[in-house]
This record gives sequence, C-alpha cells and structure tokens, in this order.
Amino acid sequence: MAELAEQEYDVVVVGAGFGGPVAAKKCADAGLKTLMLERGQSVGDKVISGLTIPIYGFLFGPSFIRDGNPPIERPVDGIRNYVIHDIDTGDIDIIELRIPEPISPIFAFGYNTYCKPFCEWEAEKAVESGAELRTSTTAIDVIKEDGFIRGVITDREEKIRSKIVINCEGSQGLLAIRTGVRERYPPEVISLADTYDYEIRKEDVDRIFGHTLRFCWGFDEQRIAPPLGHGNGLMVWPYRNSIHWMQDQCLRMDDGKAPNLRRLFDEYHENITTRLPWWSNEVAPHIKLRAKMFEGFEIFVGLDDRLRNMPNHTDGMILAGDAAGLESTVLCDGVPCAWFSADIAADVAIEAIKAKNTSATFLKIYDRRIKAHPIIKWATTCTARWNLRKAQESHDRSELRARVHYGFGFGLLTHASTPLVKSSFNSMKKDPTITIKWLKMFLRYYYNWEHERFGQEELPRQPRGRGLFGLALVFLDSLSRLLSPLTRAMVIVLTPLTGAANPLVKVLGPLIEPLIEAIKRMAPLFKSLLTMMISSIIRANPAIYDV
Ligand SMILES: Cc1cc2nc3c(=O)[nH]c(=O)nc-3n(C[C@H](O)[C@H](O)[C@H](O)COP(=O)(O)OP(=O)(O)OC[C@H]3O[C@@H](n4cnc5c(N)ncnc54)[C@H](O)[C@@H]3O)c2cc1C
Repeated sequence: MAELAEQEYDVVVVGAGFGGPVAAKKCADAGLKTLMLERGQSVGDKVISGLTIPIYGFLFGPSFIRDGNPPIERPVDGIRNYVIHDIDTGDIDIIELRIPEPISPIFAFGYNTYCKPFCEWEAEKAVESGAELRTSTTAIDVIKEDGFIRGVITDREEKIRSKIVINCEGSQGLLAIRTGVRERYPPEVISLADTYDYEIRKEDVDRIFGHTLRFCWGFDEQRIAPPLGHGNGLMVWPYRNSIHWMQDQCLRMDDGKAPNLRRLFDEYHENITTRLPWWSNEVAPHIKLRAKMFEGFEIFVGLDDRLRNMPNHTDGMILAGDAAGLESTVLCDGVPCAWFSADIAADVAIEAIKAKNTSATFLKIYDRRIKAHPIIKWATTCTARWNLRKAQESHDRSELRARVHYGFGFGLLTHASTPLVKSSFNSMKKDPTITIKWLKMFLRYYYNWEHERFGQEELPRQPRGRGLFGLALVFLDSLSRLLSPLTRAMVIVLTPLTGAANPLVKVLGPLIEPLIEAIKRMAPLFKSLLTMMISSIIRANPAIYDV
C-alpha cells in the first residue's frame, strides 16, 4: 500500500449528524484545530428523514441552537394515542398528552424537523466557528500507537492525526466496533422503521393534525405494525406541508432467522391504511406519496445492562450520541442525548488537550458527567417502552392502556418531572437569567413558524422600534439580571427537593387534567386579550427576540 498522506489536527470529529457539529463547534470555539468528517456526499444524507426533537433538547442543549434560528418544520404540542382494541368495531381508546391552545403552539412540547436541513444548519454553525468539514469521507480505521488512538484513516487514503477523536458516527458504530471499544448490538435491541413521506397542503395539515403527533398501538391481531418483535406501533408526524407515516419495531429473530421484512411491512401498511378510519377518511384523500424509506433503521431501545454499560471512551477517543448507545428508551428520541453528550464530549476533549492527557483514566470524567446528566440518565434507563413490549405480549387491555399512558400520555410526567426540574435547576444555577432566554426561544421559534421563516438565519429587521411588547421583554430581561443572586440562592435551597417532583405530579395528576380542561374552557373569555398577545408576538420586530 502506498504511503498515506498525513495531516494533523487537534480534534477529529467523526460524523456530522445531530451530535457531531455540536462537538466540532465547541472545540473550534475553544481555538482547537478541528476537522469534522462526514461519509455522506452532503451533511444529513445518511441521517433518517425527519423527527420530533423534544423540548428538553432545546432548553438544556447547546446555546447556539436555543438562541438561534434552526430550520424547524412545525411546533408540536403533544401526542394523541389511539389504543386500538378492535379496529373494525371502532373499539379504540384515545389517550392524550397535549398542551392546550392558546398556550400551544407558542409553547411547544417539541419541534418537528427534517434531519437534513437541521444537520446542515448545525454543521454551518460549526464551520462558521472555524471547524473544517469534509464530506464524502469515511473514517474506516483509527491510527493506534502505544494503545492510544492518535487519529483516523479515511477511505480517501488519508492518515489524519489528532490529539483526540470524538466519535459521533451514529448507531451502527462501525468504527467503535472495529476498534474494539464497543460490541455490535444484537438485533432485538434495534428498532426498525418503515417510513412514508407524503406531500399534503399546509392548510390540510393544520386542519387535520394541528400540532399533534398521532400514535397507534394495539395487540398483534390488529395488524398495526408487523409482529416482528415487541413494542410495535404506528406513528404519524405532521410537518409544514408534509407528513410522515412510520411503522416502528424491534426485531425478533426466531431460530436465528430474519423474517421477510419488506413483505411484512408492505402487508401491514396496506392493512392499517385501509382500515384506520381517520387515515382513510381524513388523511388519505389529501396526500401524495413523495418518498418511501426502509433501511432497517437502528434505534437502540434495549435496556440490557451489559449493553448499556459498554465503554463510551478509550485512550484517545470519546463516543457520543447514538455511537455511545444514548438513544432514549422512552420516546426513542436520541437527538437531545446526542446534543448533551456531544457538548460534554467537547468539554472533556478541551480539558484533556489542555492537560496533555487523553488517557482513558482522564476521559473517565466524560462517563461520569454523562451518567450524572438528569435527562440522559432518565432517557437511557426508563422502562416505559420496554414495558410496552411486555404489555403487548400480555394481551391485557388495561395493562396496554396503562403502558401507553405512562409511555406516551400524561403518565410520562410522573417519571419525567424530576429529571426536567433537576435539569432546569442545573441550568439556572449556571445562568440565573436563562428563563428569559427560554421565553425568547419559544417566542422566536413561534415567530419563525408563523412567518414561515424556516432556517433563514437573518430575519429581516424592521425599521420600527421595539413596541410595547419589546419593552416588556426588555423589562423582564433587566428584572431577571437584577434578581440573579436571589434566583441562584433559591435554586440552591430548593435543589434537594427536586426528587419530589415525580411523586408530586403523581399526586396532583388528577387535578392537572381538569386544570387543563378549565384552561381550554376559559380561553374564550380571554379571547380578545389572547388574540392581542398572539398578534403582538407575530407582528413584533424580530430583533426583540435576540439574546
Ligand atoms: C426511524 C427513526 C426515528 C427517530 N425518531 C426520533 C425522534 O422523533 N426524535 C429524536 O430525538 N430522535 C429520533 N431518532 C433518533 C435520532 O435520529 C438519533 O438519536 C440521532 O440522529 C443521533 O445523533 P448522532 O449524531 O449520534 O448520530 P447521527 O445523527 O446518526 O449521525 C451520524 C453521522 O455520522 C456519519 N458517519 C457514520 N459513520 C461514519 C464514518 N465512519 N465516517 C464518517 N462519517 C460517518 C453518518 O453519515 C451520519 O451523518 C430516530 C431514529 C430513527 C432511526
């Protein structure tokens, strides 16, 4: 083999999906010579098509995303679950977790986005910060010297040396497996998805779905998604002027034989789209198939302790996001954990380079920090989705209802509240003015949504001033600065009580649902005030939402 061309960097980031650019940007901002490698021809080519990023990703994730204008396709206000007992007789329970209007869609439960534009936007930010991006380049191996990883070898016959490698290569983790850091996941812990991308007019999405995801669950005989494994369901995501229809599975290989997935997915797609009334009556007449994706997508949804505790670092390399097995076992939402872990990985890489110590012993702090992150901890150890598989196996109707309620309905808050409050407090301790940044984020994202400004970085500035609404935000901003010491002290005092959030929501649960109902009922009374507020948000000079 000819001598490989050698290049030298401080940090090589493998993968420009959701996590990679976050790590690359932070390293570049710290003045490190950073290279990001992406095997796709362009960024986002190899990431799945579209998804919902839950709100905690934006609130507690990287500040450039929270304070920026990422390309969001639709605010999401919750999930409507159809628990189908008998599709033909219409025996279907509806379980909802939804932020009521008019709080929604200004304040959202998450944001739907297409992956490609979002990852491109993130990568652009990393490049603006000084990171170098190389697409159509696959890291096929690592440079190993004295047991340390000292860079990567690419399929372009380059030898790229670096002080540290941050591996954000996603769930397949070929490089991690090749280097012996991680094992291949067994099929049963991987979720497979069959996705259909449909065009539909925005007015129709608004009318039919509004801002709510629709999920369907049932026992195998309802033929909602093929019974290849357990935890199978159907999910429909609304975007701006398109929707995604997705059957989602975990694979079960009886006798070590893989079933004919293509045939089964097609058969079940045909079954459910012709029998599900709201699909065939409300949705089907308005849609046009644009693309169909089936690749045996991998989402690590297992709760196998051995797999969960596979190493996430070695001498000279840190694994982040899906590569580190951080996809959530709850909602299968991997983006927030990819952002959090990539951010922490960059911090640790910066510290390691400064300390001139990239040994596994030093990098152990990465493992400690990600495991101490309240959301990562919750997302990777929660049993909600795992129990759903068990409920589907049990064939017990009330058990299935309960599992859907705890996994995707209001019951979610009885196990998510503590991690959410803990993360809020951690953020407020670091920056007591962050609540205003959160508020501005919601308002800015809503403004962008209303003005259909998807991913346009520079919003047209209006010559007029800030207006009353803008002045109110300036006032809140100043107040939060003034009250910073008090906020920090209050958060420190209340931190030991955060563990009470889950039980408290459980106790208050029966009151919260009627409260939401009351808000909905009272909305017409405040209609003119609310209309005025919403119109102020939309008509404001967008400069008022800058941080
Ligand atoms: C069907 C499906 C639905 C999902 N729905 C949701 C959802 O609703 N919400 C949510 O939050 N998450 C969802 N996820 C999970 C989410 O997509 C992942 O958790 C997230 O993309 C992880 O980010 P990452 O940066 O770790 O990896 P990825 O985003 O997968 O990025 C990895 C990147 O590395 C590149 N790469 C891989 N190997 C190499 C190499 N050797 N050299 C160079 N480049 C390489 C890939 O091309 C890719 O661009 C879903 C996943 C699937 C499959």
